[in-house]
Amino acid sequence: MAQNIPELYGSLVFNDKVMRSKLPKDMYKALKKTIESGTHLELDVANSVAVAMKEWATENGATHYTHWFQPMTNVTAEKHDSFISPTGDGQVIMDFSGKELVKGEPDASSFPSGGLRATFEARGYTAWDPTSPAFIKDGTLYIPTAFCSYSGEALDKKTPLLRSMQTLDKEATNLLHIIGNKDVKHVNTTVGPEQEYFLVDKELYKQRKDLVFCGRTLIGAPAPKGQEMEDHYFGALKPRVAAYMHDLDVELWKLGIPAKTKHNEVAPAQHELAPVFDTTNVAVDHNQLTMEVMKKVADKHGLVCLLHEKPFEGINGSGKHNNWSMITDAGVNILDPGKTPAENTQFLIFLTAVIKAVDEYADVLRISVASAGNDHRLGANEAPPAVVSVFLGDELTEVLKSIENDEYFAGSRAVQMDIGAKVLPHFVKDNTDRNRTSPFAFTGNKFEFRMLGSEASVANPNIILNTAVAECVHQFAEQLKDVPEDKMEDAIHELIKKTIIDHKRVIFNGNGYTDEWIEEATKRGLFNLKSTPDALPQWIADKNIELFTKYHIFTKEEIESRYEIWLESYSKILNIESNTMVEMVQKDFLPSVFAYIDKVAATAVAKKSVVSDVSTASEGKLIKELSQLADEISTGLETLRADTAKALATEDPLANAKAYQTVVLSDMDELRKSVDAAETLIPDALLPYPTYDKLLFSV
Ligand code: ADP
Ligand code: MG
Repeated sequence: MAQNIPELYGSLVFNDKVMRSKLPKDMYKALKKTIESGTHLELDVANSVAVAMKEWATENGATHYTHWFQPMTNVTAEKHDSFISPTGDGQVIMDFSGKELVKGEPDASSFPSGGLRATFEARGYTAWDPTSPAFIKDGTLYIPTAFCSYSGEALDKKTPLLRSMQTLDKEATNLLHIIGNKDVKHVNTTVGPEQEYFLVDKELYKQRKDLVFCGRTLIGAPAPKGQEMEDHYFGALKPRVAAYMHDLDVELWKLGIPAKTKHNEVAPAQHELAPVFDTTNVAVDHNQLTMEVMKKVADKHGLVCLLHEKPFEGINGSGKHNNWSMITDAGVNILDPGKTPAENTQFLIFLTAVIKAVDEYADVLRISVASAGNDHRLGANEAPPAVVSVFLGDELTEVLKSIENDEYFAGSRAVQMDIGAKVLPHFVKDNTDRNRTSPFAFTGNKFEFRMLGSEASVANPNIILNTAVAECVHQFAEQLKDVPEDKMEDAIHELIKKTIIDHKRVIFNGNGYTDEWIEEATKRGLFNLKSTPDALPQWIADKNIELFTKYHIFTKEEIESRYEIWLESYSKILNIESNTMVEMVQKDFLPSVFAYIDKVAATAVAKKSVVSDVSTASEGKLIKELSQLADEISTGLETLRADTAKALATEDPLANAKAYQTVVLSDMDELRKSVDAAETLIPDALLPYPTYDKLLFSV
């Protein structure tokens, strides 16, 4: 097996090796040019690629092709067409044209569009993204595509992502030229998303309506053991989990996804997978695919992979770390401090641009990770708070301080800096204890955005990050573009210094989980947008509309449509959760409470019939306690039903989401308390669903 991995790796991908062997030389060159520098693809090239793709796909058992796209839901979409083309004599040939490769026309009317389609054509079209490789899955050739309305409005996540990557490329390349690094032709962004997940037994899963409908448990008392022993993190893999992870790796490798690291996470039944980083849009596509393959492989192993941000109360939920950096076409990581003063200057200017971007656009970064599921994690002492701040580590913070105070930084010592001297000598990577509580941490040669939820696409955070950084880089370029060469060093120094002074409020190296920090953050004037409905209105703040329209990432209509979709999606999720809870408690749980009361009462009566003066105090006590809880549950159900109906009837999308968040969610919490209390009194055999201890410790 191990020897075959290099051969197996990417065997289902239409990658460079396949292209080179299947395409005529000139066509291969033309395609490479399109991929590397985004030039327009001519139809003859597309035709040639289509022929090669079809040939390769059919050789590898594919009968169909699909334009694979990412609508504004959490999942990907696909419609399969076979390659067959009737020849008129009752026979068929396998056929695929450049036109079919480049453009598809799925009916867009059933995907979320936030009102965009009310004003435009109902149909949308998909357009091939040649920068993300096509692949074969389950007998179908998958072609990664962007999804737009007929008039060009983005209906997906890939379109704005590609736009944001192009924008950052243009702005960063320009700034590099201005500061003297003239050889750079392109700047790409790179992403390595670490993915957390839970595994539960499939048979147990099927018995829980909350897991089936909502992906998380809505009721359930804690298991006797949780994560307090700290024995799961990096613990030895149990055989069933190890077998799953092995299969998962193999499936991902076949698809050219460089799965690298796997381990147990903090909570029982929780695990993590991290790939080697890649270009952002490939990493985004791969993460979508990884989540899908995780679920599929789990099914084969009699397991279910839960990607929800908070499947279980009382133990950690799951997130995703978005490791992010910028890389030149020569392969230089711009966020790597480097060894020479010139490299350091370049590093520092881009580093401060990122700090400025995070400070000025903290609200939209927060929004980029906002979801009903992630609301259960952020700020709950297991994930970063809802306040976005930057961690730099002690040494780098010292470096910035020395620049701010016009001191020359030398190792751990700061000395007076001569005006006009080289900005910085080399400094070593900060090896201090890595701060795990920071939402946005510098980790040596990249930033790690740690607020992402496990279930969501990583597209949005990267769209926002790329665009915000592009804007700050643009502002820097504007300030430096007319500076003569002999004054450049001073100008850069002043610019870095001013940026540090203006934006140091966003830098925080302490423990982000404490209340003191939240207090301090408020004093510093940082946003603390606690929940999704608290955060979303900032999406349509003027400064943000200005940012996204300026760089044509989103039109104003696209911004508004997304706002509407996100609010609606939040309310819909809470509505489903409320309905599921009502159904589970009313139809399954309460009857089991009554059944147990009945059983206990029967026991008491039976006892009395045998020994007339026997004590039935314990039965009486239990019946009283259960009856009281049953009354609470019944009242709680009534309240939840009524408040959900009221929320549902609220017209305005923001008021609607607010009603679910402030009223329905707290009704659910209240009801849960009584249910969980009753659950602990009822024997497992009488409970209508498997409890936490079975779910968390069964695999
Ligand atoms: P950790 O200690 O968090 O596991 P690693 O160095 O192993 O840190 O990196 C975690 C993730 O960061 C991996 O997916 C890795 O590929 C990714 N990564 C490393 N360098 C970069 C980079 N320059 N740009 C984007 N992601 C990167
Ligand atoms: Mg990490």
